[in-house]
Amino acid sequence: MPELPEVETIKNLLKPQLVNRKIIRVDILREKTILGDPNVFKSSLEGEMFLDVSRIGKYLIFHLTNEIVFISHLRMEGKYFEYHKDEPSTKHARVIFYLDDDRKIIYDDSRCFGIMKLSNEKSYKNEEEISKLGPEPFDIKDVDYLIKKTKKSALPIKSVLLDQTIMTGLGNIYVDETLFRSKVHPLRKVNSITKDEWKKILDDSILVLNNSIKAGGSTIRSYHPGKGIDGNFQTELLCYGHKGEKCPECGHVFHFIKVGGRGTTFCPMCQVEKKDKLVIGVTGRMAAGKSALLEYVKSLGYPIISSDDIVEELYQSNGDIYQLISEKLNISFERNYVDKAVLREHLIKHPKDKSKLEKIVHPLVRKYINKWVNVQHGGLIFVEVPLLYESKMEEDFDFIIALDVNLDIQKERLKKRNESSYHDLLIINRNNAFDDYSHLVDFLINNNKDKEDLYRQIDKVINTLQHHLN
Ligand SMILES: [Zn+2]
Repeated sequence: MPELPEVETIKNLLKPQLVNRKIIRVDILREKTILGDPNVFKSSLEGEMFLDVSRIGKYLIFHLTNEIVFISHLRMEGKYFEYHKDEPSTKHARVIFYLDDDRKIIYDDSRCFGIMKLSNEKSYKNEEEISKLGPEPFDIKDVDYLIKKTKKSALPIKSVLLDQTIMTGLGNIYVDETLFRSKVHPLRKVNSITKDEWKKILDDSILVLNNSIKAGGSTIRSYHPGKGIDGNFQTELLCYGHKGEKCPECGHVFHFIKVGGRGTTFCPMCQVEKKDKLVIGVTGRMAAGKSALLEYVKSLGYPIISSDDIVEELYQSNGDIYQLISEKLNISFERNYVDKAVLREHLIKHPKDKSKLEKIVHPLVRKYINKWVNVQHGGLIFVEVPLLYESKMEEDFDFIIALDVNLDIQKERLKKRNESSYHDLLIINRNNAFDDYSHLVDFLINNNKDKEDLYRQIDKVINTLQHHLN
C-alpha cells in the first residue's frame, strides 16, 4: 500500500504530465471506482484542463478549470500509467483520461479498493474523506496538540500514530521506522508518552517521511513515459521489514508482534518497555540444560513451569486431552487417563498421527501456561517450552532464552540418561528445528562447560532482564 511519501512522489510525477493538458474524453471501465454518479464525473471532467495536482494525506487532489476538482485514493494497488492513446491499456485499467496531446493517463487498480470522487475548489476540503484527516507531521508546530488529543487514551502509541484523524501521514512502515528512531516501544500506552518523547516522535516522523520523499525524488529523475507512475522506490528502512534480523543500533534481534492487527517490528533493547511482569520462554536443544536452568532460577526464587510437566499432568487428568486423543487418534486406553506407553506404541505404528497429537496437545499446553502466567504476581517468570517455535508460541513471551550444546557433549549427556530414552531422544532431536530458529532468540546460552559457567551466563541474562522491570 502506498504511504504518504509514495503518494507525494506520484503527485510530483503526475503534475508535469497533466498541467495545462485538456481532457478530451474520460472512459470509466469500472463504475464502482467512482464515488457518486459516474456519468456526472465523466461529463464534468470532459473538456476541462488540469491546472494543478496536490496532495492531502494519501489523497491526490486534481485541480481543473471551472473550479472542478477530483480526489483519488490509491488504497492497496491503485496506480497511474501514462501511455500513447493507441497503445493497449493495462490489464486492470479502471478509468482512462484521454488528453489533448495524444496521450492517455490510465488509472489501474487490480484489487479495486481505490476510489475517485468529484468535488470542487470550494468544498473539496470539506469532503468526508478529507475533513476527518488530522494535520500532517510537517504542519504540527506544537506537540501540545498531540498531548491534548491523546491524554485520555490508553491505546498503544503505534495505534495512535496510525490513526489518521489525529495525525495524518504515517502508515505501518513509517510508524515502525519512527518509533525505532525515537526508541519508543510500539505498545507503550500513549498517555505515558512524555512531552520530550512526543517531540522526538514528531521530529523523527518528519525525518523519516522526508528521507523517503527524497528517495522518491530519484525515481522522478529516472522516470520515462510509459512507465507506471506508482511511486515505488527503494528507501532505506532501518527497522520495518527486518523481522528476524539484527538491530543496526545494538545488534539484538528484532522482535515481531501484532499491534491492533498490524505486523510490527521493533528492537526490545533499544525500545524498552518497562513491565511489572516479564514472561521468559526457555527452549533449546535436547540435553542442553533446560532443566538445569529452570532449577537454578527456581533456587533464585523465580516462578517456573515446564511444558513437559504440564503434558504429564494433563495426561493424568482425564480431562479434554484424554477425550480428544482417544477420539482423534482412535486409541482406546484401558484406564481413564492417557497412558504414555500405549500412546508411544500407537505413534510407532502410526507416525503420521504425531502431528495430529501435537495439534491437540499444543493449544491445551498453551492455555495452561497462559492461565498460570496470569496468576503469577510479577517479576521474572520462566516457562520451559521445548518446541516453542514449532508450536508458534513466540509471541506469548517477552523474551526467549535458548540453550545450545555441541553434539559430542549432547551425546554424552543423553547416554548418562538411560539407553532407551537416548535412542528415542536422538530420533526426536532430528525433528527439532533448533538450527532454524536459534538466530531468532534473545539470549543464546552455550552450555558446553560446567554448571558454574552455565549459572554465570544465566546471571548475566537475568541482570539484563531486570532493566526491563518496573
Ligand atoms: Zn537495538
